[in-house]
Amino acid sequence: ASDIHAGSITTTAITKHYPLCATHLQRNMSHNSHLKYTGRQQLGLFLKGIGLSVDEALKFWAYQFTKNGSGMTMEKFNKEYKYNIRHSYGLEGGRTNYKPWDCATILSKPKPGKGEYHGCPYRDLSADSLVSNLNEMGISDQSEINTVLEDVNRREYTVACTRVFELTHKEQMANQKNAEGLHISHPNLYFDRSRQLER
Ligand code: SF4
Repeated sequence: ASDIHAGSITTTAITKHYPLCATHLQRNMSHNSHLKYTGRQQLGLFLKGIGLSVDEALKFWAYQFTKNGSGMTMEKFNKEYKYNIRHSYGLEGGRTNYKPWDCATILSKPKPGKGEYHGCPYRDLSADSLVSNLNEMGISDQSEINTVLEDVNRREYTVACTRVFELTHKEQMANQKNAEGLHISHPNLYFDRSRQLER
């Protein structure tokens, strides 16, 4: 059975493999018991890409949106959100099997406004906020942080993300030949690669 399900995707065993865009979305969704449209698309398709089934996705989103204090009932959830989740799995409407967004697609969408968390954090977060996220990912060395910030200043967001991947997987990569030179151009590539290195 898959280890990707509604209960597991909020545990560090799984989230430690998330790129920052997915961490940022899921963390804020969990905190607010809500997520606006573009963020739901971006995170929902990422989760589909890591192998979350439609039934587990419905369970996950329903729980998050109706949990303590959100004020949303299951009835309202089913009425307003269920269709869209099934739709993104190709089970409604035109039955398009939507693909998870790659970094280029994410960067081509309108930037997140207030209360929105989609997009690429390397582009969209303030330097301070990005640094505290890097710290949380275990990057605390100032010169390492500076190299990431330099990529960001050059607007090379996927280069920054690739660098973060390499900095946070140093040991695993040292144990594997051919581990270098992979450019992160897709959040699901980041996730899959990270899981692969753990095996
Ligand atoms: Fe996500 Fe791509 Fe940005 Fe990395 S570069 S945080 S994978 S959008």
